[in-house]
Formats: sequence, structure tokens, C-alpha cells
Amino acid sequence: MTEIIKMTGEPDFEALSEAASALAGGSLVAIPTETVYGLGANAFIPESVNEIFKVKGRPQDNPLIVHIDNLDMLSSVVSEVPKRAIPVMEKFWPGPLTLIMKKNPLLPSEVTAGLDTVAVRMPSSKVARLFITLAGVPVVAPSANISGRPSPTKYEHVLEDFDGKIPYIIDGGASEIGLESTVLDLTSDTPVILRPGGVSYEELKEVLGHVKYDEGLINESVKPKSPGMKYKHYAPKAEMFIFEGESASKKIEEMLSQLNAEGKKTGVITMSDRKFDSCHVLSLSCEPYAYAAGMFDALRQFDALGVDVILAETFKETDGLKAAIKNRIYKSAGGKVILC
Ligand code: AMP
Ligand code: MG
Repeated sequence: MTEIIKMTGEPDFEALSEAASALAGGSLVAIPTETVYGLGANAFIPESVNEIFKVKGRPQDNPLIVHIDNLDMLSSVVSEVPKRAIPVMEKFWPGPLTLIMKKNPLLPSEVTAGLDTVAVRMPSSKVARLFITLAGVPVVAPSANISGRPSPTKYEHVLEDFDGKIPYIIDGGASEIGLESTVLDLTSDTPVILRPGGVSYEELKEVLGHVKYDEGLINESVKPKSPGMKYKHYAPKAEMFIFEGESASKKIEEMLSQLNAEGKKTGVITMSDRKFDSCHVLSLSCEPYAYAAGMFDALRQFDALGVDVILAETFKETDGLKAAIKNRIYKSAGGKVILC
């Protein structure tokens, strides 16, 4: 049985505290964060960390992010804090930015998949922070989905993937940002973005002066530095195509009539108010924060409707949050992008 603990409406603080103690003692607990829901475990219990990999079906070489709620906890996770991390932490913590630093030797190697660096973040979600405070330990938490599936942004998504498989899910409502944190490597000379996310390149550049994207994000033939970035991710069950550019709606309409003629059940994600015939339509805002917040939910809705094909309009530009949106949705579609 999976117990759902409500932290919306009338929050159940007693149950939250019980789940936090259970996590400290070794249980897995799914928690809401401002990015996506995380599948949490005590970072200092190797068996619990291993259990996360098992339950998610996560590749063993893909290290986890450690979540902390205060800077005292940071010293148990990292061995040193580089000087340039200070202004970055001051500006973006708590928030959707994960920093890669040198690992504390006492942190179990299961967390970092054997690497001598560790990924660490202080979430801004109040429920997540309170949960970590109550647990009193750093919490490893990858996204609370079966590996490869669209990330969970509501407790219902977590339940879809893990009902009966984990003891607790904390319901904190819909994730505010709806896509994962930015991962920034601070161990190399120039800070490197290993994964675009809730904090943008432009925002980081303003604080750090210089920052670059990992070559593996830009060039398909280069191996990404972040182990997780090489895997298939965020994929709905349906085949998916991305459309971007001025004529996106028109091109979607053309492909839709072809798919309808073939008898395919189609889902369309649109950013305009254009009407589409004989298909399921979900509208996402052309405001990037609202688009991101609804994106993974839209993919899961189409899965539930059993569509064969998804045709999704997205942004042409790559500034700000759009870089992260495009990174995720391109992966969801396995790179099938139609420029219009
Ligand atoms: P997830 O928690 O599933 O959102 O994924 C965390 C991301 O951070 C994955 O892409 C990991 O490969 C990446 N990551 C975690 N630890 C490290 C590390 N020490 N070095 C580089 N990337 C890391
Ligand atoms: Mg994930």
C-alpha cells in the first residue's frame, strides 16, 4: 500500500513527520519539489540508495542529486566549496540549480555512481525543505518516475509509476517549474552547464562572468559529461514529432490529415488558438514558464488517452527557460524535429 500524505489544503504535518522519520530510517518517500517530484532516500544509507536505482530501473552509472535544506548539511556532502560557488549559492539557492563539487569521502559511493564529484541542490519548495529538516539527513532524490518516462509534476504521476512499490508519496500540488534543475559543474576551470534547467545560461553568466554549455549538449557526436544526459528520457508511449517556426500550426495540420487518413489516433500540443480536426488537442501557453509547467503533464495525458502519435509545437528560440524546454521535448521525441 502506498500512503498519500496531503500537504495541500489542510497540511498533515504529523504524517509528514512520520514519513520523514521513515526516510531517515531507510524507506523511500516521494516528495514534491519546485522542479519535479523526487523519489527520496537517506543519502547515507547505501541500501536505500540502491533501492532507488532498482525501483526506477535507473542505469547504475547515473549518479543522483543530493538535496539539502541548509548550508551546514552541505559539509557532510562535499569536501570543499570552491570560492566561485559562493555568489552562485547566494543568488540561486534555494532554487532549481544543482552544483557539482568534490565529494565528501564519507558520502556513500552509491550516490555518485563511483565518481569523486557530487551533485547537490537546495530546493525552494517549502514542503521539500520542511521534509528534509524533519528527516535531518541529506536526501538523494532523482525524478520520481520509471526511468525513461515523462517526469512527474503531480503526485498522481508518481502514483501511476509507483503505486504499491513505495510506502509514501507527499502531495504538495503541481510542481511550480515543471522541469528539472540546471546542473552546473564547478570543478572545471570554466563553469559548465551539464543540463539546462530552471536557472538559465543568461542568469548564470550574469553572476559568474563566464559559463559554457557542455559540448555533449550541443554536438551529438560528443559524449555528454553528465552520465544521465546520454540516456533516452522523458518519452511518452506514442511516437512524437516536434514542430517549430512560423508555419508550425500549418505543418501540424498537414501531418494530422495524413495521420487521420491512416486511421492513427493523434494528440496535438499547440501554442496557438488554431482548431484541429479529429484529434485530441492540449494547449500550452506561449509564455515559457507556463509551457514548462504543463509540458510533462500533457505527455502523460496523451499516454492515458492512448494516442499513437503526438504532434507538438514548441519554441523556435533558445534563450532563458526555452533552452531547457527544448532539451526535454527534443529528448521526448527522440530528436524528431520539423523546422517550419
Ligand atoms: P535526475 O536526478 O534524474 O534529474 O538526474 C540528475 C542529473 O545530474 C543526471 O543527468 C546525472 O547524470 C547528473 N549528475 C549527478 N551527479 C553528477 C556528477 N557527479 N557529475 C555529473 N553529472 C551528475
Ligand atoms: Mg529524471
